[in-house]
Amino acid sequence: MLKASQDDQDALQFASVLSKANLHGSISIGKFSLPCKRGVSDSIQYNQAGLDMLNNQHEYTFDIQDGELQVSLQLYENIAGHHRLFCYTRIGNKQGMAFSVNLTTEKEGDNVIYLTQKIKFVEQYKGSTNLAQAHRRQKQVVFCDLLKKLGLDVTESGDLLLGVFDPLKGRLINTSADSFLNDFIVVSILKGHFQGNKGCQLEILPTYNKLDYIFTGKDEELDLPAKLVDNKVKRVIPLGMRYKVLKRDSFKCVACGRTANDGIKLHIDHKVPFSLGGLTELSNLQTLCNECNISKSNKFLD
Ligand SMILES: [Zn+2]
Repeated sequence: MLKASQDDQDALQFASVLSKANLHGSISIGKFSLPCKRGVSDSIQYNQAGLDMLNNQHEYTFDIQDGELQVSLQLYENIAGHHRLFCYTRIGNKQGMAFSVNLTTEKEGDNVIYLTQKIKFVEQYKGSTNLAQAHRRQKQVVFCDLLKKLGLDVTESGDLLLGVFDPLKGRLINTSADSFLNDFIVVSILKGHFQGNKGCQLEILPTYNKLDYIFTGKDEELDLPAKLVDNKVKRVIPLGMRYKVLKRDSFKCVACGRTANDGIKLHIDHKVPFSLGGLTELSNLQTLCNECNISKSNKFLD
């Protein structure tokens, strides 16, 4: 008989924390609130029925203008032994996987689990690989920008970090389980909305206008968005380093002193912004909550 690996146990531990999370009848998308009720009326196809560690615990139905948006969260171990949390959606007979996050264990970072995923879009463009690439990158930049405005933690390389889970303590250390659940569903619905290919269009959300993304010129005439910074460039804070900063700052916002228990999310911030020459090293990094982080970036923009 196979012995459950440490990763399996950690994932089960995460599943048990997530199963206690509560949406309290609605999700918050920035200033909007979208009511939902528990459960789905149509079953949503499971990858491997029976292996889902969440056992249908998190299934919700939202009323949207085109009918009902049904959402099902499922947690699986894939063939490579990695665990991943999926969000499946269904509207009418359209069904698909809207978004997922990996449960990434970074050995450098005291064996905590980072709930993270690169934001990517699939985009075909007739006749030009370069145009398809530019189109994908532009969508990625615009979407990441939207997520940042909603107070989510997105790196310069387009990686979204939704939470840091400590399996030893059995809790999320930079956000609450309720906020994590809210954010994961929000990103999933927004991504479906933004992709526009799953019938997941919501009137209350910022509109993704396809016309903005149609390139008519030749490659050299393209006005490309600022290139996303490569991971090798030191602007991106490595996952393990994030934990060290959180721990050093006692899992509190250094500006207002609040913790994840106070309903905020903790982000890692460059004290002196990278764009102004600040380095990605412990002495130039600090823990800020999403609210203080946004007001700080506004100050730098002024
Ligand atoms: Zn704060």
